Amino acid sequence: MKEKFFNENSLFTLDYKVYDLKKERQTESLTTLGNGYFGVRGSFEGSISSENHNPGTYIAGIYNRLFSKVAGREVDNEDLVCTPDWTFITFKTPAGDWFNIDDGEILEYRKQLDLEHGLLLKKLRFKHSTGEITKIFTKRFVSMAEAHLAEIQYTVIPENYSGVIVFKSALKGDIINAGVERYSQLNQKHLRPVREEEYKNCILLETETVESHIHIFNLAEHHLLKNNVSVSINNAKITTKAAYIDWSSECSVHENEEVTLEKKVAIFTSHDQGKLALSIDEGCAIVRLPFESALNEHFEKWREIWEHIDIEIKGNKALQKNLRIHLFHIMATASHFNVNIDSSVPARGLHGEAYRGHIFWDELFVFPFYNMHYPEIARALLMYRYRRLPKAREYAQKFGYKGAMFPWQSSSDGREETQTVHLNPISGEWGEDYSSLQRHVSLAVAYNVWQYYYMTADDKFLKEQGAEMLLDIAKFWVSKCQYNEKTDRYEIHQVMGPNEFHEKMPHSSEKGLKDNAYTNILVVWLLQKCLVVLKKLDINSLNFLKKKLDLNESDFETWTHIITRMNLNVENGIISQYDGFLKLKEIDWTAYKKKYKNIGRMDRILKAEGLSPDDFQVSKQADLLMLFFLLPPETVKDIVKNLGYNVTDEMLKKNFDYYFKRTSHGSTLSFIVHSYVAAILGELPLSWTLYQQALTADINDIQGGTTKEGIHLGLMAGTITNWLFAYVGLHFLEDTVIFEPCLPDNVDSVRFNFYFKKIYYQVFLQKKQLRITSSHDVFISVKNQNVSLQANEEKILNY
Ligand code: BGC
Repeated sequence: MKEKFFNENSLFTLDYKVYDLKKERQTESLTTLGNGYFGVRGSFEGSISSENHNPGTYIAGIYNRLFSKVAGREVDNEDLVCTPDWTFITFKTPAGDWFNIDDGEILEYRKQLDLEHGLLLKKLRFKHSTGEITKIFTKRFVSMAEAHLAEIQYTVIPENYSGVIVFKSALKGDIINAGVERYSQLNQKHLRPVREEEYKNCILLETETVESHIHIFNLAEHHLLKNNVSVSINNAKITTKAAYIDWSSECSVHENEEVTLEKKVAIFTSHDQGKLALSIDEGCAIVRLPFESALNEHFEKWREIWEHIDIEIKGNKALQKNLRIHLFHIMATASHFNVNIDSSVPARGLHGEAYRGHIFWDELFVFPFYNMHYPEIARALLMYRYRRLPKAREYAQKFGYKGAMFPWQSSSDGREETQTVHLNPISGEWGEDYSSLQRHVSLAVAYNVWQYYYMTADDKFLKEQGAEMLLDIAKFWVSKCQYNEKTDRYEIHQVMGPNEFHEKMPHSSEKGLKDNAYTNILVVWLLQKCLVVLKKLDINSLNFLKKKLDLNESDFETWTHIITRMNLNVENGIISQYDGFLKLKEIDWTAYKKKYKNIGRMDRILKAEGLSPDDFQVSKQADLLMLFFLLPPETVKDIVKNLGYNVTDEMLKKNFDYYFKRTSHGSTLSFIVHSYVAAILGELPLSWTLYQQALTADINDIQGGTTKEGIHLGLMAGTITNWLFAYVGLHFLEDTVIFEPCLPDNVDSVRFNFYFKKIYYQVFLQKKQLRITSSHDVFISVKNQNVSLQANEEKILNY
């Protein structure tokens, strides 16, 4: 009966045919299902959090703060809460064995993430300690059609026994956040019990987050089927204890008969707003829909999504599959439901607890995807930042600045969530953490606002929210600039760049660095854009904002001055990552690679050896080179030239060679940026090698143990946009879409769709031919030739 259980299209699946306990947490992250409202790790039903398992359900925007004592001081942490485990199901065989995947012998195993249909499928042939053999099939989905709904079909087939089996299904709120070992010294109990009861034929669990006082509701309805035919349940038992409720029922079975427990669950909270807010009765109504109907609606939604976002590759199966895995996880993190959710995308998705579910500058890597496919989702994510503008103003003021300074790590209310102490797992010691000095996060927010506006031409957003964010962030940076009369230049002190290995100037007691080139150049870029925005606003909006933000003509004159006088440190064509970086000691990379193999986290290695990364020319990830990832090389060159520095044609190549050699790639984002910059330099083999590392970074867990704590969303989204921007050669200049294709040899063709300035494009690109359709009459450019397109007529271009 279950022959067609799995999806055999390997280009649309992630399959595991061996049960590897050591990698189970990692596969749980990679087989997470989500719909933007919540994400559920792909743990086996019935597993309990332990060294090798970590069932977890995370709801977007549901955070809670707890206080703990570490290294002699009290710290507080706000975490994305691991909400009650609704996936718990097990059964007892007639001989009395409660099934636990780790207690018997696994005879056959398969776990599949079916990307096409948004399903998690598992098959297990299992020998119990009693000698009984059972086949188990589970099918799980998190609905893309109904934000609050998730369901499991759990089928048991006794292979060599008959008798009465007992199903047990629980809603478990008696849990803690246990997803990250490093945090285990901290207080992690976020939930308290409120009620556990039977409610209109469902079981209901209500818990509450202890500090943020958000009520979380889990409501489950159960059905039994024998050989696919519904059977009535008349012996169900309910057991409760604090923050826990289970439902159990007996069922007699014969050898080779198929019994299925259907568990339909509604998940909602007191925090949900607008269309997402539910009463308990509405929750009940959601779980009443028959399994198959709910499943079909979910399939239909995924079909629509794939039609919209898929990148169809011919000629390279690995690339095809990995891109789809990444597309899937992006949509699991933020979907159409996010239009009604006040949150943004956590760096590790809704897939795990690393970085406590906080929101970082990583958004920067994710926005291009949404700008091109779902502008309304991009806008909703920007609104998360807009609503926290007052908090960002408060934060700036606290440090004596003006305008809006966004926090390096953000969660519920937009305050700075970055810790001040950090555990070095190599030395086991707690050290100071200065990473909140990565003030460049505010530039990322501004960049995202501008890019959204540029890609979507959403004038309303610019007028009502975007301009205010851009101008207030600019105001912050200007207040942070220090004018040095001696050099007649503006300097920016006490910051950190994306290379977070460097926290202090050598031998300085003051934290932070001076004149991080990435920051300084982006500030100039921002001020230029703000001057453009001032011209775009109608007079009323302009006057309104000038008044609200206390800006006047003399401010704009200062901005114009900074644009020509920002300080950089340039030596022989190399732009110093910050003032003094080029004078630091060199590291013996070969020796360290030999000694430590994985040298990604060079900072931890050096610290554990009693050295300071601040003394060495060592980068965690792209810092200066980030500029060339974000801005066209010509724009960067113009900014630098305008500042009065000598710029040559070789500038990019020279800087790439210099910094690439001194980078340990301790962040997965590093592969994305370097592979892109290598591509625009024409170094395609190097670019492709780096791209492959990015493409497989999570799937192979190349950092050796971080994927189990959640996927790397910036990395995943970066592989999608790099594919389009670096190899398909898709660019946007003013109002024009540009193609400069350089498909790798091992790819024959690619098909994809996207939006640019409200026009929808459908593209089929082959090695020598581009077929393109646009929804309006428009000009595009292909390999430097202007081409006109007529609305809805396919154009075939040989290039
Ligand atoms: C990277 C940061 C990133 C953070 C969250 C760190 O390892 O260095 O750039 O924002 O991870 O993904």
